[in-house]
Amino acid sequence: MRFNASQPMTAPVDRSATWPYIDGEPGRFSYARDDNPTAAEVEEVLGALDRGHALLYPSGMGAVTTVVLTLARPGATIALAERAYYGHRKLLDALAHWSIQVVEFDQAGTPPDGADLIFLEAPSNPFLTMPDFEAAVAHPGLVVCDTTVASPLRVRPLEHGCDVALHSATKILGGHDDLLAGVTVTRDPELHTRLHTMRRLAGIVASADSAWLLRRGLRTLEVRLERQEATARALVERLSAHPSVETVRYPGFSFLVSFDVADGGAAGRVERSLTTIVNATSLGGTTSKLESRHRWEGDRIPTGLIRLSVGLEDVETLWNDLEQALAHA
Ligand code: PLP
Repeated sequence: MRFNASQPMTAPVDRSATWPYIDGEPGRFSYARDDNPTAAEVEEVLGALDRGHALLYPSGMGAVTTVVLTLARPGATIALAERAYYGHRKLLDALAHWSIQVVEFDQAGTPPDGADLIFLEAPSNPFLTMPDFEAAVAHPGLVVCDTTVASPLRVRPLEHGCDVALHSATKILGGHDDLLAGVTVTRDPELHTRLHTMRRLAGIVASADSAWLLRRGLRTLEVRLERQEATARALVERLSAHPSVETVRYPGFSFLVSFDVADGGAAGRVERSLTTIVNATSLGGTTSKLESRHRWEGDRIPTGLIRLSVGLEDVETLWNDLEQALAHA
């Protein structure tokens, strides 16, 4: 097909809050809390990646909140992968007044009996454990799997029988540390409709601008991920041989690595000695970032645990920075 000069290379951002009715009736888009064309375009791409039907949210936590509001009744038992992303646990603890029971379990094994909803994380952040999908989907509870740290290019939970795949698109999907977004992907049309209804009623809706940026980020997902993973593997090898590094965690894929130094003091000195890698939170972006997680997660994390999100910089540049920072550990 020849390029048509009047056709834009990218779809424009549609920031409308409302659209005119057609012959006196709402069309596909009528009010932006329901759906908007820029988000709908990116939802198509996200759904294809995870082999299901995607919904976009204003953040990863917005996606989790919508799932919990939709699926958890007061008094429900929610089983969470042990020491996975701490924000999920914090959110559920904040809902203690709903009498929601939270049970953490080793996701390499079987979820606890009686759980109504099971949250897996593949791989978990920051311990980088993987779930036993077979054991989880054999359980009668609904299974949600957060694959923020894998991306749908590496792990597709719906193909393992999970009910919901979930992402913080703020991370590798957006990939440039310039947007917040979240995603759910489902195959069951009824579940999709229930999530969509809750999203609309609760107003947990992503902006058209974030959706557009996410669409742009997704165009380079594959090349970014491949390069970030190749660099992560090389760094894991070198970190594993470093005398100041005690444990290196890496699942064999992904841009995320965690490792331990002696204690909190050593971790702080590494953070403050960096010159290239940015001492900041978050993960998945083009810029490498490193932080001690103890400041956020407290006692569930060893004091010396450091999380490294590998970006697109040259491997030697990153290793030189890590090596000189580790000399202060
Ligand atoms: N899930 C995982 C695995 C995360 O690491 C995060 C954030 O770090 C979230 C969900 C929450 O995403 P957001 O910060 O986009 O709300």
